[in-house]
Amino acid sequence: MTHEQQVKDSTRGRTGRLGHLGRAALAAAEAGLAVFPLHPGSKYPALHGQRDCDGTGVCAGGHLGWEQRATRDPRQITAWWSQRPWNLGIATGRSGLVVIDLDDGHGETAPEPWTGARNGREVLTRLAQEAGQPGPWATYQVATPTGGQHLYFRAPEGSALRNTAGALGWRIDTRAHGGFIVGATSRRDVGTYQAVNRAAIAPLPAWLAQALTPPEREPVTGPVATVRPRGAAEKYVEAIVRDETEAMAAAAPGTRHAARLKAARTLGQLVAGRSPLDHMTARARLLGAAEAHIGVQDTSREEVERDVDDGLAYGAQMPRDIDTDGGAR
Ligand SMILES: [Zn+2]
Repeated sequence: MTHEQQVKDSTRGRTGRLGHLGRAALAAAEAGLAVFPLHPGSKYPALHGQRDCDGTGVCAGGHLGWEQRATRDPRQITAWWSQRPWNLGIATGRSGLVVIDLDDGHGETAPEPWTGARNGREVLTRLAQEAGQPGPWATYQVATPTGGQHLYFRAPEGSALRNTAGALGWRIDTRAHGGFIVGATSRRDVGTYQAVNRAAIAPLPAWLAQALTPPEREPVTGPVATVRPRGAAEKYVEAIVRDETEAMAAAAPGTRHAARLKAARTLGQLVAGRSPLDHMTARARLLGAAEAHIGVQDTSREEVERDVDDGLAYGAQMPRDIDTDGGAR
């Protein structure tokens, strides 16, 4: 049994009373957003991954991941959220959204040219001023439990924008096609995602749309379209896992925190995308490789686990598909 507590696809399951989260999911869908369940208390998708797919039900014609299965259908939403108080996942691309994800700096020093900025919001403010489009941004916003903000915008018509990580500036990520965001009302052990206002979702400002689509900029994530023979995906993923964990284990003291985050983020992308790697395996391999870091220069087990979990969660927001043969399930 992996950590993937699979969500039943059947609407015949027991129908409990919808809690806050279920009602939030219905409200989001009514507002036009495509939603899906995340594990309670987490930001991990709860729908089964390709590795656990048995090829029945919704996957009878081939595995469908969270991005395909995100829905506005109240019957499906009621069925899902009657089972458990899932956190609320919003598939940004499917919802026609571009969400600007502003992180707190957590006391770290911003690099050039963002010197002096304390968080992503201040960086965005500078960008807006440079563009002659100062805020405030009158749009729907959610405060995250770790001091960040999500600014929701409507993607331009026919937009192909995808996720970006740091492309706009320090501590600014964006979520669009290929990504999701944790919706308001969701809970984690550190706190709750809370709507800051009741404003309508505004169109993405033109200067931001432009900044996100320079012709030379490659999308940060995208499906790997390479067709590989059966079994090759496993070998390919294993090679990535081996390379990443070995590099992390061998990182010099002083660079190990960053090395753990990087390896976990890379594996988190594979876990969230269509690939043979599941969360429990990825986490176990990372923690195993990081074992040698514990006790060196006051590095605690808790710190190592936090890095691994943070990295996996971050990577999960930029899923990477390793497509196989298109047939085997
Ligand atoms: Zn499936």
